[in-house]
Amino acid sequence: MNSHEPIEATEKLFTRTRSRDYRDWAHFGIFFLIIAVFTLLLATHRLDRLEDLVRDGFLKHAAWKQTHSDIALVEISEAAIDEIGPWPWPRSYHAIIARLLSEWKAAALVFDLDLSETTDPKNDSDLAQALSRIEAPFYFPADLRPQKEKKFWVHGIPVVLDTGEGKRSWVHVLPEFEKQAQGVGHGYLSPDPDGVLRRFDPVVKDGKEEHLFLPLRVASDYKKDPAFAPRDWKPLKDSGGKILIPWNENLGWEMTRYSCSDLIHSFYALQKGARPVIDPGKISGKICLIGPTASGAAELKTTPLGTAYPKVNIYAQVLNAALTGNWIRPVPFWGNLLCLLGVGALTMFLFVTLRGAWFFIAGLSLAAGWFLFCFLAFTRGHLWFYAVYPVLLILCLFIFSAIYVQIIATREKSHLFHLATRDGLTELYVIRHFRLIMNQIVREASLRKEPLSVILLDIDNFKSINDTYGHPAGDMVLKKTASIILHFIRKRRPFREIDFAARYGGEEFIIMLRKAGLREAASVAAERIRKKIEETRFEWEGKLIRVTASLGVAFLHQGENVPDSMVHRADAALYKAKASGKNRVCTENR
Ligand code: GH3
Ligand code: MG
Ligand code: MG
Repeated sequence: MNSHEPIEATEKLFTRTRSRDYRDWAHFGIFFLIIAVFTLLLATHRLDRLEDLVRDGFLKHAAWKQTHSDIALVEISEAAIDEIGPWPWPRSYHAIIARLLSEWKAAALVFDLDLSETTDPKNDSDLAQALSRIEAPFYFPADLRPQKEKKFWVHGIPVVLDTGEGKRSWVHVLPEFEKQAQGVGHGYLSPDPDGVLRRFDPVVKDGKEEHLFLPLRVASDYKKDPAFAPRDWKPLKDSGGKILIPWNENLGWEMTRYSCSDLIHSFYALQKGARPVIDPGKISGKICLIGPTASGAAELKTTPLGTAYPKVNIYAQVLNAALTGNWIRPVPFWGNLLCLLGVGALTMFLFVTLRGAWFFIAGLSLAAGWFLFCFLAFTRGHLWFYAVYPVLLILCLFIFSAIYVQIIATREKSHLFHLATRDGLTELYVIRHFRLIMNQIVREASLRKEPLSVILLDIDNFKSINDTYGHPAGDMVLKKTASIILHFIRKRRPFREIDFAARYGGEEFIIMLRKAGLREAASVAAERIRKKIEETRFEWEGKLIRVTASLGVAFLHQGENVPDSMVHRADAALYKAKASGKNRVCTENR
């Protein structure tokens, strides 16, 4: 009957995998905790820099790039400087460029030139006069500079680091230039903490002045569309209120680009009645962005990770996006949050429905699927979902699950092993497992010629104990006898399990003693156990039960490498003990 107990318990263990128990709830609990942590990370923007890097990569593959045909770049390029002379050029050259572009019917002129300080009066008045005469609307940037600033150069671009101390102030071009301009927009750009320029402020307000970003200002006039107003760029803003620059790889190639030196040559050619270098028809109707692209920026860079981006390039990128509508549209916070929670819930659902390898395959596919979705949404649909948070969430949930499932499996395995090898009532080994150990130990002992003995123990008149006090009392006697045997074994060799005991049958036990070769040692051990049992008080419901046991001792003989005949001899010795009056130890006779 006892042998059924482990089986039942084992069955219970196996059925557990089909119905949930506290361990699964603990697992779910930690799942929720991990999801909560990620929600917190999302709300506090802890991983936004990773998102930026991923988006930078996505940008390279964005297929929606489109170049507006009405943008022209008038570059003060390396080659132009080589030809015309070192920078800064006299302002009369700028006057020539402005006049010519206007005569050729440019739609607008946008200057990115440093005109904030006076140079020689002749040149300055040349430019002021030219500006007062031209027809095309023109625009200047107003820069916001900290009064205490750190300025350094990155690939030829001055990067002004706002130290955050003190006030900032607007820097305008000279009033005689600006008063004739159609408008002013801010040209204030600050790179991300990693030094990469990814976004701009649509509107900057400081003190009494408030300006739209210059290219937005230009686009707004150009479109003459009252609906094209700041509220249009509200949905484009990211969590920091800035707008992402939609870097356009095609822009550098498809946009019309002219060198200032060619313009100046054209001007003088026209004066001599010759053919201009540039075809005037190509300037007609174009918004011309005039600025330096030289100073280390030999080529226009087309992704934020490009090493250099002259300011006119950024104006061109933003102007192009404003005219074509190809913005990056960030999904709002709640949208990203919903996605994160959805992905978390889906992972938990996978855990509930799938087991083992399938769970992991599904999890990895889910992560890959989400990443692909973000990529497609970005490259095809202009939409920017957070890719990193959900992917990391899935990976965290899965790594945690892998560890957790492993721990539980190991524990269940050792629990199952215990159930399979121990007797449910006495906690001693079951005889099947004992035989395995015994076979091996006998083989080893015979090889090493080490002594080995075995004791068989049978409780005397156990049937009458059962009959007199009841079955539960019998169980109690069995348990207590087993604990006496275990105690004896442990005391003999502390910390090292070299002796083993098992429940041999109903009320019979078997004990194996290693390295107790001398006839006396094993017999003395058996006698101690017998005496201990005899002296122990077995009480049941207030009544004292007298318990004694008979023991038979046998030894491993030379040349024996299986235990069978040794056990047989112990059995014979036990029989002898019973026959000669019980409650005694008999040793095999040689
Ligand atoms: P002897 O002195 O000759 O050994 O007589 P005995 O009564 O001890 O021997 P016998 O083999 O006739 O009786 C063993 C009894 O042990 C029979 C069975 O009912 C009882 N028994 C076997 N397993 C269990 C058990 O797990 N619990 C209890 N309470 N009794 C058991
Ligand atoms: Mg018996
Ligand atoms: Mg008995």
